[in-house]
Amino acid sequence: MSNYYDDNFGNYEMNEDRDETVEFYHEVQKRSVWKVCSICGERVKIMSHYDKCNSCCDRMENGWQF
Ligand SMILES: [Zn+2]
Repeated sequence: MSNYYDDNFGNYEMNEDRDETVEFYHEVQKRSVWKVCSICGERVKIMSHYDKCNSCCDRMENGWQF
């Protein structure tokens, strides 16, 4: 098992036998660009159609109000 992190989806816990997960991770990284999160203002690497980082999305899911 390895831990991978990206700003789109947070932590990945991956089993290296599962090639499709690793491939998915690399695919997401390839399509990600450096942007400034519209909520916290952090510089994050996210998909070009996203404007919020994973931590902010998590907080929203947990019912935080902005
Ligand atoms: Zn953020």
